Amino acid sequence: MTARDTRPQDATTPYAGPGHVQVVVLMGGLATRLGDAARTVPKALIDVEGRPFFAIVLDALKRRGLRRFLLLTGHLGDQVRAAFVDGAGLGVRIDYRDDGPEPLGTGGALRAALPLLDERFFLLYGDSYMDIDYERLYREHLHHEREGRAALMSLYRNDDALERSNARFEGGRLVRYDKRADPAGMRHVDFGVSVVRRDLVARIPANTPADLADLMRDATAEGLVAGCELRDRFWEIGRPGPLEAFRAYVRDRAARPRKAVFLDRDGTINEQVRGGAEGVDSPFRPEDVRLIPGAADALKRLKSLGYLLIVVTNQPGATKGKATVPDLWRVDDRVRDLLAAEGVAIDDSLVCPHHPAGVPDRCPGAGLIGPCACRKPAPGLIGTAAAKHGIDLAASFLVGDSDADIGAAEAAGVRAVRVGPNGGTLSEFADRLLQGEA
Ligand SMILES: [Mg+2]
Ligand SMILES: [Zn+2]
Repeated sequence: MTARDTRPQDATTPYAGPGHVQVVVLMGGLATRLGDAARTVPKALIDVEGRPFFAIVLDALKRRGLRRFLLLTGHLGDQVRAAFVDGAGLGVRIDYRDDGPEPLGTGGALRAALPLLDERFFLLYGDSYMDIDYERLYREHLHHEREGRAALMSLYRNDDALERSNARFEGGRLVRYDKRADPAGMRHVDFGVSVVRRDLVARIPANTPADLADLMRDATAEGLVAGCELRDRFWEIGRPGPLEAFRAYVRDRAARPRKAVFLDRDGTINEQVRGGAEGVDSPFRPEDVRLIPGAADALKRLKSLGYLLIVVTNQPGATKGKATVPDLWRVDDRVRDLLAAEGVAIDDSLVCPHHPAGVPDRCPGAGLIGPCACRKPAPGLIGTAAAKHGIDLAASFLVGDSDADIGAAEAAGVRAVRVGPNGGTLSEFADRLLQGEA
């Protein structure tokens, strides 16, 4: 059996997500920073609320549509293999490559796996938990690859809060990445997942220990690495403090389901713009985003009642050539920034970039056009968010201005609230909830 698989999508699901993309996971570290906790147990198998850490990671990756894994093991790798075998019991496929007796470092391990790598693949750190939109990363990479980039690095703006900053991301461009440099002037940290082309890996010298960070530093300096800023926080268990924080997060999520208000975006939070077949359309440029008067204030009141605020939005603009894939999220980020400026933090925003028909001549990438499980009125975005945040759907609402929104609410089992020309306003809904009437 080889690690290659060119099936366009997993046969068990109609969703044309990133299931065909290989996921390479670096697991060979000695875990010295964890001390006793990792002396006899590999980090992947460290107990988190009764389960091995990497089993929890796999749950999240599966929910995001990932199915094909290549684990690059080293220290205590035989235990990892014994625990996960070929993945069949988990509904995924897992292949392995072991470092052997001499640790090769992250770069050396990846170089040694070269014959097993697909033309492009996700690269993850095995001690990180990242429940994020992998399809978005992959599609943004394909966009930048057409401009000559060989990798895309996900970034988190942490201002040294979570980790020491190591990347400079300015005007949407990654201009510097250096783990070892003085972090002055750097506000971002690499998030722990990249999309990488195989030909970049071939640059690493063979049969010698190497650090992947050096390759990425040099490739970034040459302009070969694109950046993608994510707003989700990430979790890693490489040190005792963060490991305990992750355990508390998992415990809390299971013990205390949250309530949420799911929010349609265009026509509910922000104004639509003129255009499109129906006379109105989504904004496709950040500068065209205008909040609906009163929306920020209404969201503030909902938040004060303890609801998570989660945007779920259909954005087929790229399938029709109206926007690039990165533009879809630039506009989404702009909505969140405008709300943040009004004192409202959106907890999460999930985007469906697909459309069943699209305009094939104008669509920039294969796979965006076709049926999916996330376009409202399907409940996919709501289900993904509920699993990620531990949401009690029966205690939650969805507010939207279209039939698709109401249909998604019904399919997901949350209460539907219609706003816009055929309904009320977000403010009226917030008032009703505050008075205990909704
Ligand atoms: Mg709408
Ligand atoms: Zn979709």
